[in-house]
Amino acid sequence: MDVEEFRVRGKEMVDYICAYLATLHSKRVTPNVEPGYLKELIPAEAPQEPEEWDNIMDDVDSKIMPGVTHWQHPRFHAYFPSGNSFPSILGDMLSDAIGCIGFSWAASPACTELETIVMDWLGKAIGLPADFITHNRHSTGGGVIQSSASECVLVTMLAARNQAIKYLKQNNSYLDDSSFLPKLVAYCSKEAHSCVEKAALILLVRLKILDADDNGSLRGDTLKKAIEEDEAMGLTPFFVSTTLGSTSCCSFDNLQELGPICKSQPCVWLHVDGAYAGNAFICPELKPLMAGIEYADSFNTNPNKWLLTNFDCSCLWVRCRKKLTSALIVEPLYLQHANSNDAIDYRHWGIPLSRRFRSLKLWFVLRKYGISGLQKYIRNHIRLAKHFESLVLKDRRFEVVNDVKLGLVCFRLLGPESINRTLLAMINASGKLHMIPSMVKSKYIIRFCVVNEYATEPDVEQAWKIIADSATDLLATLDK
Ligand code: PLP
Repeated sequence: MDVEEFRVRGKEMVDYICAYLATLHSKRVTPNVEPGYLKELIPAEAPQEPEEWDNIMDDVDSKIMPGVTHWQHPRFHAYFPSGNSFPSILGDMLSDAIGCIGFSWAASPACTELETIVMDWLGKAIGLPADFITHNRHSTGGGVIQSSASECVLVTMLAARNQAIKYLKQNNSYLDDSSFLPKLVAYCSKEAHSCVEKAALILLVRLKILDADDNGSLRGDTLKKAIEEDEAMGLTPFFVSTTLGSTSCCSFDNLQELGPICKSQPCVWLHVDGAYAGNAFICPELKPLMAGIEYADSFNTNPNKWLLTNFDCSCLWVRCRKKLTSALIVEPLYLQHANSNDAIDYRHWGIPLSRRFRSLKLWFVLRKYGISGLQKYIRNHIRLAKHFESLVLKDRRFEVVNDVKLGLVCFRLLGPESINRTLLAMINASGKLHMIPSMVKSKYIIRFCVVNEYATEPDVEQAWKIIADSATDLLATLDK
């Protein structure tokens, strides 16, 4: 494809994308296909000869699209939002065209410097502690874009493990680093995302998964007791992963209680995972939900969830960048450059060497919407979640199970787990609406998350009608 053909096909693709998004509402939310469906439709070998573009696009329509789950559909209410917006798509397009691999400052100075600036912009808008902002005077920390919240948790746990080993080595310098691993213990609550467990698996450290209170919040007393018990057994607490906005029910750990306990320990790193909810803290009225953030050593949030930015864009800030990079630095000659000592090299802040120019799309989003536009978007989702909650509460067959603070409502049909499983299966099989289940307060619940950028009250009301009508149908079959 030469530049002239790209000019034509590129414009056609923009038209295709506009038509796709404009007609989404008329499609099923989820595909009606069985595993292996595509294998029957696409040859087992790559084509030997070039193919016509029109034929490829015909296959997109006839073979690929029928197997797509439409995350941007107005009736998609599963998981958390998958950030998407036109400015972000355009930012990614430009990033793809530039095609740089910004692992060091020298590998593309603008790629590194824009990332630092945009991370400062967002960190300030969220209200993170001054130390987390790279360009603040005397700041020791800074922000970096990672691919996922899972990676943010993994690298912070790795940095914490490194610090803890250094601490333990002070009195045992002759021992190998790995000999300290059996002593280390990390903590999170049952409400924490499973990526914390995965990080501990990868890093070969013990993880204690603690009970949350009735509101899904990890409390100080629970952590204190666990730390005391572990210390009595000769273990060394080194990492506490807290959650603001848990995946199951959007609950919030109590940082004001947990923070001082972590700080009273010689080497405990306090991480705050706000993968979804963290974005909402750009709204002044929601900042109380992160009370205690001043105790944190690191914080992550995903604009690719709830800030209209396409995957991947997971933002991590640390209080002390040296503690992060010292766990990850390797310095082969071919990656060194003349400004290695003065400039940021983001390859030391994460696992991959290669990095896309991800800050472009976030920069486009922040500029095109402005903080006020993004606040309006977040507030609209919260208002709609509250509206959905009120619809559920009016129907005495149902109950709401979580404290609805942001865009997630957890609800269930009164009755046994089986009836809720059947209800959800019926609704999802219809293709009219998509939601997922979870366990909250030991009950099987259905999660309804507001995700569409342009979601309106009629959208939520239509979703509720599908749910209520399905419940009526289900209860009628049970009565027979
Ligand atoms: N943390 C929380 C609170 C989440 O809700 C999720 C995913 O939904 C994750 C971490 C994992 O996110 P990622 O897919 O970016 O690794």
